[in-house]
Amino acid sequence: MNKKIVVFTGAGISAESGLGTFRDSGGIWEKFRIEDVCTPDAWHTNPECCVEFYNLRRRDTLAAEPNMAHFAITKLQEVFPNTQIITQNIDNLHERAGSNNVLHLHGEITKLRSQKDPSALVELEGWEQHYGERHADGSILRPHIVFFGEDVPNFTLACEIASQADIMIVIGTSLNVYPAASLLTYAPVSAEIYLIDPNEPTLGCYADRVGFIQAKATEGVPALVDALIETYQ
Ligand code: NAD
Repeated sequence: MNKKIVVFTGAGISAESGLGTFRDSGGIWEKFRIEDVCTPDAWHTNPECCVEFYNLRRRDTLAAEPNMAHFAITKLQEVFPNTQIITQNIDNLHERAGSNNVLHLHGEITKLRSQKDPSALVELEGWEQHYGERHADGSILRPHIVFFGEDVPNFTLACEIASQADIMIVIGTSLNVYPAASLLTYAPVSAEIYLIDPNEPTLGCYADRVGFIQAKATEGVPALVDALIETYQ
């Protein structure tokens, strides 16, 4: 199957794996303040607190399992090899469900990086980073996370990929975090766009172009994948 499919995921796809979303009630930001743990300023003024926050996220991620939505996307990739996943998530549940071609916009929780060179990554064993450990280049390691207010280095590539989509499937994102949220605008006018979320995000001028499927990811994604396979295979 030659269709180019772009799957764009947010925190909602991992919610049913037990990983909290950021903005829903009971979400992570009700327990932490962004400015305390997830900004360049926070890293400079209280890095131990940032490390602790991401240690907890990493511990939760390693304890979680991929769900039926992650597995359905892997099935989609098997039928449509030109399927690219672009995720805002820092967890590794797409990869652990067997998916490939996963582009992380906001970093990866299982990795640390040099402060001098953002591309110098180190895989962390286990869940716990000990603040003060150094990269081989001498700088203190920081979580491989794009903090709020930092550039999103993979965004340019993500836009290129989105601009070639025949089909775009958007799952579990409030479309509140920019620039990621603007990825939809890069899909060609001819692209079919689907959005799966139990709550309808504000789509503005895109409302007419998007097939909104009001469902949880574990219900909506397998059903859409089966429908696409039946339609195009
Ligand atoms: P968000 O918290 O702003 O929005 C979550 C969206 O998921 C909402 O629209 C909500 O209605 C929807 N949702 C809730 N339960 C769902 C379900 N069962 N199935 C499908 N959708 C469901 O998240 P966002 O838009 O991804 O943006 C927030 C930022 O938070 C991202 O940058 C991301 O990196 C980060 N984040 C990542 C993780 C993770 O890696 N698992 C978890 C929390 C936050």
